[in-house]
Amino acid sequence: MLTESTQISETPALLDSFCPGCGCPSEPTTPRFSLESVRGPLPFAHCKQCSAYFMQTEYQAAAEEDHTRQMAWGEVDRGTQLNSFKQKMYHAILDGIERHGFAESRLLDVGCSFGGFLVEAQKRGFQGAGVDIVSDAIQYVQNLGFPAQKCSTLEDCTLSTVEEPVDVVTVLDAHIYWPDQPRELRAAWERLRPDGLLVIRALTKAPFISAGRVIQKVAPGFSKKLIRKAITDHRFSMPLKSLLTTIETAGFEVLEASPRGAQHSDDTALAVRAAFALGAFTWHSLGIALAPGALIFARRK
Ligand SMILES: [Zn+2]
Repeated sequence: MLTESTQISETPALLDSFCPGCGCPSEPTTPRFSLESVRGPLPFAHCKQCSAYFMQTEYQAAAEEDHTRQMAWGEVDRGTQLNSFKQKMYHAILDGIERHGFAESRLLDVGCSFGGFLVEAQKRGFQGAGVDIVSDAIQYVQNLGFPAQKCSTLEDCTLSTVEEPVDVVTVLDAHIYWPDQPRELRAAWERLRPDGLLVIRALTKAPFISAGRVIQKVAPGFSKKLIRKAITDHRFSMPLKSLLTTIETAGFEVLEASPRGAQHSDDTALAVRAAFALGAFTWHSLGIALAPGALIFARRK
C-alpha cells in the first residue's frame, strides 16, 4: 500500500547521508516518505537540489546481487531473452558511438548482464569487456570469450585502469542501481582515455513519481500504479536535466542527450512507446524532459 504521507523516522544514519544524485548533503529537512517499489514498501527521500528520488536503505553488495538474481537481467534464461528484445536499442547505441568517431574501439560495458550488448558490439568490430554484480552473468560473459569482472562498484574494476584506459564506457540501464552517481561517474572518468566517450542509457522517470505523488489523494489507485511503474526496483530516479548536470560536474562534456534511440524495441508496450514519442517531441521542441529514458553521449574532458 502506498504510504507516501507516512513520515519515516529519521535515524542519525539517514541524517548523515547525502543525495546519491547530485552529491549534496541530505539535509534534515529533505522530504522522506515510504514508496511502494517492486522491492516492497521502502523509505525514499527527495532531494530539493536536483529533484532525485533515492532509496534510504544501506547499499549492501551481497543483498543487491541476491535481489538482481530475482530480476530478468540477473537470471540466464530471461536475461538472454532480454538481450534479444533490446536489439534495436543496442544498434542505436552502436550507431551513436560510431557517429561520434569511436568505431571498432575498446569498450567497457558497466552492468553487462548476460552480454547482449557486448556480442552486438563485437560483431561490429569493437573489443569489449564487461563488469556486473551478478556472478552467473560474469561467468556467462567469460564463457562467451569476453574479459569480465564481478564488481559492485566501478572503483573495483581492474579491466580498465588509469594506465590502461578504454575508449568507451557504456552504462546501459544500470546507473539507477548505483549507490552514488558522482563517485561511479568519477570512476568511469578515471577508466576512460582523455576525450574518451561515456554512453549512458538513462532511466529518467522522476517526473512520473512526482506526478504520482501530486494525484495521490484524488486518484490513489492510479497514483500507486504510476509510482510503482516509475520506480520498479531502482535505487534512484533523477530528472534528465539534473543528471546531465551531475555528468558535467564529474568532468564530462555532454555531446548529445535524447530519448531517440533509447526505446528498447519496436515491440515495447504501446504506452511506453507513446511516452517515448511524446517525450522526444517535448525534449527537442520545448526542452522539457518527459520521456521515460534517454541516451546520453558525453566526452571525458
Ligand atoms: Zn540531489
